[in-house]
Order: sequence, then C-alpha cells, then structure tokens
Amino acid sequence: MGNKYNISMKKFFKNDEGFVCANCGKLVGKLNYSSRGHCTNCLCSIHIDIHPGDRLNSCGGLLIPTEITPNSKKGYVINYTCQKCGKTHNNRTAEDDNFKTILKVMNKTYNYLNFKK
Ligand SMILES: [Zn+2]
Ligand SMILES: [Zn+2]
Repeated sequence: MGNKYNISMKKFFKNDEGFVCANCGKLVGKLNYSSRGHCTNCLCSIHIDIHPGDRLNSCGGLLIPTEITPNSKKGYVINYTCQKCGKTHNNRTAEDDNFKTILKVMNKTYNYLNFKK
C-alpha cells in the first residue's frame, strides 16, 4: 500500500478542502494527516479508485460500508460494496469518523438510507 492518496482525488475531493457527501449531504471538512476518503457521518464513499487514491475507476457509484474490522496497524478497516457495480473496496477509518456509525456497521444495524438527506 505505502504512499497512497495525495494528488489523486481532485475530482470529488477537490484541493483536499473537503466535499459534500453524496449520500447524507454533510459537508465533510479536510483531513489534515491524510486525504479524506469518506464521509465522517455516514461513512459512505464514492467509487473512484481501483486501488486507494489512483482515481482510475470510472464507476462513480456510492460505496456503502458493509463491514468494519479492527486492524492492528490501521485502526479500523471499512469494507465497502459499490451500490452501482457491486465491487468491494477497503478504506481505513479516519480519527474523526462518527464512532456510533462505526458501531452500527459492526453490529449490522447500519443502513445507509437512514442517513439520506
Ligand atoms: Zn455522509
Ligand atoms: Zn462501482
């Protein structure tokens, strides 16, 4: 994995100044220690990467968190499934992610529709 993110997410995460979540409409602020990859509120993301940060995927579907697993090096890893193409994707949690949402995913009570704007 190594040096991921940086230049790659301009389309949806312009200038690393944050973005508006495609699912819940939250304005997600920029993440200072890494590039922002997903919404802090509902944890949804957009399917724009094949590998994290490469932005080579033209799908653009909504990535919905299906499972979260603890990882000794990365904190928590979110497993996503794309609503549009059905492919899976992984992303680590950010330190300001809503922990209640993380718990909902872990407890299988999460439903992205509950966050729809
Ligand atoms: Zn959201
Ligand atoms: Zn997709």
